[in-house]
Amino acid sequence: MLYGMRVLIVEDDALVADAIRSGLAASGFAVDHVGSAEAARIALRHENFDLIVIDLGLPVADGFSLVQRLRADGLTLPVLILTARDALADRVNALDLGADDYLVKPFELPELAARCRALIRRSTSALSANLSCGSLEVDLARRQASVAGASIELTRREWAIIECLLLHVGQVVSKDKLQQAIASWDEVLTPNAIEVYISRLRAKLGVGVHIRTVRGLGYRLEETEK
Ligand code: CA
Repeated sequence: MLYGMRVLIVEDDALVADAIRSGLAASGFAVDHVGSAEAARIALRHENFDLIVIDLGLPVADGFSLVQRLRADGLTLPVLILTARDALADRVNALDLGADDYLVKPFELPELAARCRALIRRSTSALSANLSCGSLEVDLARRQASVAGASIELTRREWAIIECLLLHVGQVVSKDKLQQAIASWDEVLTPNAIEVYISRLRAKLGVGVHIRTVRGLGYRLEETEK
């Protein structure tokens, strides 16, 4: 399972949206849902998402125009589109407008989750589901983590944070981004939640890898002397 990745679903059919939402949530994604292209653009202006799933058949402004607009706005996040069966021209058009992948309805939720994982890995240049930093090794697909060969148990939110840091290894990850990685809109975090999770994680990580606080900017996962 992949934790710590935030997905926005743009789908006007509430039943389909609910199914996707619970399917992706069960795979560990933090999932938010909007029902129109306009609501999606507002959400994208205010929040960070790691991936957007867009149904092409939307009311008012359709999925094509949304893909086009968000690329024109300079957004680079991966876009996965959902299309009707036998709509080859639609798929070609959406890919040409800037979508990264597509799924034909009806689809199986495990495939959607796997495609989401693959797109996010590609976008963060993590080439496989196995990530490491110093003595820390994480298998995202099997949801296993170990430090110096000894496995460690992590809570859902600890997973979310460690995966977000690993997918951006060598970079400073803002507290805001971590907050968004662990919670969807309907979850409320206390102001110091991230600090609490980071300090628990530090205790679990032990030697060989460290979460450094970069004052005023965020956190960075680093290899340390063993
Ligand atoms: Ca629709």
